[in-house]
Amino acid sequence: MLKILPHPSATAPGARAALLENPGFGKVFTDHMVTIQWTAELGWHDARVRAREAFSLDPAAAVLHYAQEIFEGMKAYRTRDGGVALFRPLENARRFARSAQRMAMPVLPDEMFLQAVEALVDIDADWIPGGEGSLYLRPFMFASEAFLGVRPAAEYTFCVIACPVGAYFKGGSTAVTVWVSDDYSRAAAGGTGDAKCGGNYAASLLAQAEAVRHGCDQVVFLDAVEHRWIEELGGMNIFFVMDDDVLVTPPLGGTILPGITRDSIIALARDAGLTVQEAPYAFDQWRADAASGRLREVFACGTAAVVAAVGKVRHTGGEFVIGSGADGAITERLRAQLTGIQRGERADPQGWRHPVSSKA
Ligand SMILES: *Cc1c(COP(=O)(O)O)cnc(C)c1O
Repeated sequence: MLKILPHPSATAPGARAALLENPGFGKVFTDHMVTIQWTAELGWHDARVRAREAFSLDPAAAVLHYAQEIFEGMKAYRTRDGGVALFRPLENARRFARSAQRMAMPVLPDEMFLQAVEALVDIDADWIPGGEGSLYLRPFMFASEAFLGVRPAAEYTFCVIACPVGAYFKGGSTAVTVWVSDDYSRAAAGGTGDAKCGGNYAASLLAQAEAVRHGCDQVVFLDAVEHRWIEELGGMNIFFVMDDDVLVTPPLGGTILPGITRDSIIALARDAGLTVQEAPYAFDQWRADAASGRLREVFACGTAAVVAAVGKVRHTGGEFVIGSGADGAITERLRAQLTGIQRGERADPQGWRHPVSSKA
């Protein structure tokens, strides 16, 4: 049972409104969090919605040494009818369970995951920005046992925090420039590339810093074996739009994170009569197709940025532009379709929208 302990001195409405005016991304947090503990002895217990506050963590907590940590990213939207909705949250619950299994962590049942997220959205519903904004939710779990031996920990903490967010990229929805990394790989077969774990991100930061040094917004990773096949960005999947209405996206297969946005885009594109090929796509081919004009658009997608057009590609050998260098027609159409469903402005035949009953 989830115990609800409201914040004794929650942020005043005026101060909250000021924070919501320009929240940025990941800097402003709501008043509450959800925590659930797991021990080998008791299983999941002590589920609470409570004031957001710092953890007290033993310096020997296993996560600080061997990085047993996983997370999810999802959003709550204010819908046109004044309600609040999540988008395919059961998919996040299932992926969280798969990530847990990969990292030898206990599996939180789907219903508990959903209940935790919904309870936080409900109690902090006043923090959901209107307009283009949304409430970004971050469920995560880490090994909290104080123990320095190398084995799966016997104690874990699950937590959900939330931040009101505006647009992910500084420039709003303008096209991004990407850097194709020569020196680094994100994932290899048998590794953790398809688990949403913090360690994957730690390993990608140097490559991302290199991208920024080259004047790019994001890094694109190639496969670890041949260093030839495009995999994904540091935190987003990638799609290529060809001139014959064919969409190509790298196939899942252990080294790519199975994005829920990716899966949704594939379904929406097929519904719209486009052909989607989940097929390997080589960097050389990317360059050749951009030069010949066969490649019309490229976009990256993920919960945080939703759909971001890729306008320019830089690599050690030079750079090239995709199409007009700006948002393409299919990129725009798929983005509008997806955000329209998320925000309750378009029909939702797949039942992806998940209303949250809320006091607000
Ligand atoms: C989270 C994530 C994505 C996008 O997944 P969504 O479910 O669409 O948000 C893509 N790549 C990586 C590496 C990720 O961590």
